[in-house]
Amino acid sequence: MTDRHFSFEFSAPRTEAATAKLLDVHERLKKETNPSFFSVTYGAGGSTRDGTKDAVLRLKSLGTDVAPHLSFGTDTEEKIEGLILEYQRAGINRVVALRGDMPSGTTGAGHIRYAADLVRFIREKTGDHFIIEVACYPEIHPDSKSVDADLRFFKAKVDAGANSAITQYFYNADAYFRYVDACQKLGVDIPIVPGIMPITNFASLIRFSDKCGAEIPRWIRQYLHSYENDPESLKTFATETVSDLCRRLLDGGAPGLHFYTLNQSLPSLRIWRNLGL
Ligand code: FAD
Repeated sequence: MTDRHFSFEFSAPRTEAATAKLLDVHERLKKETNPSFFSVTYGAGGSTRDGTKDAVLRLKSLGTDVAPHLSFGTDTEEKIEGLILEYQRAGINRVVALRGDMPSGTTGAGHIRYAADLVRFIREKTGDHFIIEVACYPEIHPDSKSVDADLRFFKAKVDAGANSAITQYFYNADAYFRYVDACQKLGVDIPIVPGIMPITNFASLIRFSDKCGAEIPRWIRQYLHSYENDPESLKTFATETVSDLCRRLLDGGAPGLHFYTLNQSLPSLRIWRNLGL
């Protein structure tokens, strides 16, 4: 149990009130779970560049291990390099390197088009300073032309220098185990940590999942639908369902869990307590 890694992700705040809430949620999660690190997302196309940086530096000043997410949008290489070096100077030693979801019709800056290019760029500019996390997709990224292509491009990120991966969320443990097996067959041996999305709001979960290609099994959809006007039953069902998933993943050898908190403490903590971690 001791060498498992648990982490929690925040969405970048866009207002001072949202920052205050994030700091409060961080305090509660840290006190109860003492995770390996927290991470803060980066809005598509750099839309939360300052919000991400401010939240990261505030968490760092509280003595918390924190990893900024970083993507490139249409930023110039100089701009990306500036941000990376600023994080390095601030003593940040972990980043989550992503392509990000680009506004349609745009491509990355200069030579940086895919996350693998960003990983290579970070290594070129800062050597081994950062632990680099990347994203991967047990249910296959929606833009991938095939399973093989998806796996090959994930491996390219590892070959470029990624140390560890966090998955897109999923509710089907078999997809994760199959993906990890396939990666191992390709010689990918970095930790692949399942991303866990607690279920809170039925409508927004369906909307977001359709967009990012995460499948919600029919039986889960049906139960959520039936509890739409019964928040207590929905909460109980959601907590038990996601706790069962986590238990199966950890029992099956997952190296840890990364919780998508949506900037709330309780949904993740209910699962955490259920797991007896
Ligand atoms: P990549 O690894 O670059 O892959 C993107 C697609 O391109 C894949 O389909 C891949 O197969 C394909 N591909 C890769 N290389 C090539 C190549 N050489 N030729 C052709 N095709 C290729 N988004 C945000 O905007 N901000 C965030 O903070 C954020 N955090 C995230 C955190 C996690 C843990 C996860 C799982 C996702 C996150 N996302 C975030 C979403 C992510 O940015 C999107 O899923 C995005 O569409 C892909 O990003 P990536 O880094 O996986 O891209």
